[in-house]
Amino acid sequence: MVIVLFGPPGAGKGTQADLLKEKLDLQHLSTGDILREEVGNRSELGLSAKKFMDAGELVTDELIIEMIKNKMISNHKKNGFLLDGFPRTISQAEALDEMLNENSLKIDKVVSLEVEDDDLIERLLLRGRNDDNKETITNRLEVYKNQTLPIKEYYTQLGLLIRIKGNDSIEEVFKNIIKSI
Ligand code: ADP
Repeated sequence: MVIVLFGPPGAGKGTQADLLKEKLDLQHLSTGDILREEVGNRSELGLSAKKFMDAGELVTDELIIEMIKNKMISNHKKNGFLLDGFPRTISQAEALDEMLNENSLKIDKVVSLEVEDDDLIERLLLRGRNDDNKETITNRLEVYKNQTLPIKEYYTQLGLLIRIKGNDSIEEVFKNIIKSI
């Protein structure tokens, strides 16, 4: 089984991923978490990624795709994958299709967590991660609209997209996701 968690920064992808991976026994792959680990380890990948992350820009598709490929190869024990924060561009979505195809896998559902901009900004400022300052947040939302939102249409066309209202309680959102997949 392959589930993609989709949504803008602050929509609650990480929170729902933690619940879903337990419930469905899926291998959770969060590109944001993996990148932060690489930055922490001062690896070559981390060093290349850091400047993009600090600016709220996307890390290059090449780096991300290579990173996900490696993780998928080394993590195929569970019931499948829960992708969180990936894909974020059409190129990444196409690369994902290819990767899954090669492993006789396919996406089962793309769960889109829908939250209004004002709520997102409020949540991100409360979270207070390194890159959660006003300027970077504004840029991340802009980048999301320009580069990531088009893949919602891509997955709608493929009949894979499910929209879930993301500003209910954590339990309510989780219940609605489970009901729909
Ligand atoms: P959020 O969804 O709150 O923005 P993430 O942890 O998913 O946070 O991502 C943090 C940063 O990591 C992004 O702003 C971006 O720089 C980088 N990043 C994460 N996933 C990707 C991806 N799939 N493609 C490009 N950059 C990514």
